[in-house]
Amino acid sequence: MCGIVGYIGHREAYPIIIKGLQRLEYRGYDSAGVMVYNEDGMLVCKTKGKVADLASKCESELNLVGNLGMGHTRWATHGVPNDVNSHPHVSNSGNLSIIHNGIIENYEPLKIELIKRGYTFTSDTDTEVLINLIEDVQKTDNLKLGKAVQVALNQVVGAYAIVVFDVRKPNELVVARLGSPLAIGIGENEYFIASDATPFIEYTSNAIYLEDEEMAIVRLHKPLKIRKIKDDTYVDPYIQELQLNLEQIEKSGYDHFMLKEIYEQPSVIKDTYRGRLLADQGIIRMAGIEDNLEKFLQAPRIIIIACGTSWHAGLVAEYIFEEFVRIPVEVEYASEFRYRNPVINKGDIVIAISQSGETADTLAAIKLAKQKGAFVFGVCNVVGSSISRETDAGAYTHAGPEIGVASTKAFTTQITVLTMIALRLAQAKGTLSKSELQLYLQELSNIPTKVEECLETNEQAKIIAAAMKDAPNCLYLGRGYNFPVALEGALKLKEISYIHAEGYPAAEMKHGPIALIDEHMPVVVIAPKQGHYDKVVSNIQEIKARKGQIIAVVTKGDTQVRELADYVLEVPDTADALSPLLTTIPLQLLSYHIAVMRECNVDQPRNLAKSVTVE
Ligand code: GLU
Repeated sequence: MCGIVGYIGHREAYPIIIKGLQRLEYRGYDSAGVMVYNEDGMLVCKTKGKVADLASKCESELNLVGNLGMGHTRWATHGVPNDVNSHPHVSNSGNLSIIHNGIIENYEPLKIELIKRGYTFTSDTDTEVLINLIEDVQKTDNLKLGKAVQVALNQVVGAYAIVVFDVRKPNELVVARLGSPLAIGIGENEYFIASDATPFIEYTSNAIYLEDEEMAIVRLHKPLKIRKIKDDTYVDPYIQELQLNLEQIEKSGYDHFMLKEIYEQPSVIKDTYRGRLLADQGIIRMAGIEDNLEKFLQAPRIIIIACGTSWHAGLVAEYIFEEFVRIPVEVEYASEFRYRNPVINKGDIVIAISQSGETADTLAAIKLAKQKGAFVFGVCNVVGSSISRETDAGAYTHAGPEIGVASTKAFTTQITVLTMIALRLAQAKGTLSKSELQLYLQELSNIPTKVEECLETNEQAKIIAAAMKDAPNCLYLGRGYNFPVALEGALKLKEISYIHAEGYPAAEMKHGPIALIDEHMPVVVIAPKQGHYDKVVSNIQEIKARKGQIIAVVTKGDTQVRELADYVLEVPDTADALSPLLTTIPLQLLSYHIAVMRECNVDQPRNLAKSVTVE
């Protein structure tokens, strides 16, 4: 988590850093800090709170002028969010400074050793230990900064993306990564460093993404040198041309990124299947699948690993794969998978899903699966991300940058990709008839238009939000394909409005949650016409008998549930298997409006961060 930005060049560093931190704030936002260097030395400004708080503090207290600097927006792992624990951290001598994304797991023994050697610490962070370790190594062996960083990192266990500066080397920044992302933007006589490319897209479209266990010395007027942290071997820099544009990372008139991203779904779902789904010709083609078709067809089992919303997309995929392809599927939380001893048999395929492609637990689970001999296929949104590089093959979702912390378009595009994979396999395996397959292909290509229709529930979602916004608890129920949608609906509500919500398979209600239902309990029931409609109607009757407040997502034209429910949200009809792509939309809007009405920070909900790069 956390966002880091660094700059060295001919421009004023401070405005680049502040603007960059604002763009990276989705990654962490409990405190922030900046360091700018000029001939007077290092000027450091830090504060608890958001980047906007940092900017007002810096601008009222300091004149941060200089062409080199670094900034950090934090998601605390070690030490509460306060001014002192914020980054950058400065070494005991005052010569070195650091910003760090990640965790130094063995910071405690290192700290004890450094204290014995006379070092003192002002913060509770692991990061301050690292900068003093670098200083100690540098002093003891009289090393240049780059070498000292390298030696120190070889003593460290954990994850990091770091930028280190030494006042005695005012023309260079040393950067390194292991487990946390780091991009270097290359301009004319200037370099930009950031957790992702968004802070520098208006300055350059050339970037290098450091790989794990690589470090670089970023020196003015010198070509970039990248080397392995472990053994000092040099690596040829691979410069990528960025595909991002400014428009994609701005709100485009919407009040929040989350709302913008909800409304983008019709177009990004199209982007997801563009060139891959040719419904009229009965064709689905995805390079990652075509190249490995035999492996997929022979696989005795598919294991899906993911976290959070991506895990919910995995659950939808489980239903789809089993129905369409008749392959047994297991869906696992990556964080559980990696710490048990999962059985992986010959030929098993692991599909890893992650929007950012940087999710630490998923990345670690992938490595474990590979060690055990599995073929690993990635479904990611961020091109060039760690997971996309670590996996044997994969398919991007092409949803464009998702900045709202609560995931929306990533979910629907992940389901779209996974559905296409299932359809392609069903086609090759013959587990769906030609006409069934054609129907699904056609219906999938109709989904963007139907999602547009779902967005028309916005006004109704506002009305329902006004009625629900003060509820302390809320229950979400669904069956079959819409059980994961119930989980996802509840997660969206929890994440951004802080209302406690539970998602349940509707039939499980009788085994516990029904005890909670009374007139104060809103129950959101996903009840489209396809699927287990009659069973869900019975569940609704049971809720009604206990005076629960019923909010139902129904198929347009439904009359039966409408009569029973207090409120309905209508979505167009579609195939049962594709219904999650529609039923999820009004639930996103509902959570959004509830959060807005409760005056919550929709795009940056408390305690969360977008890209969970710590385990
Ligand atoms: N472990 C460091 C801290 O708690 C960095 C956390 C982050 O990635 O923001 O300060």
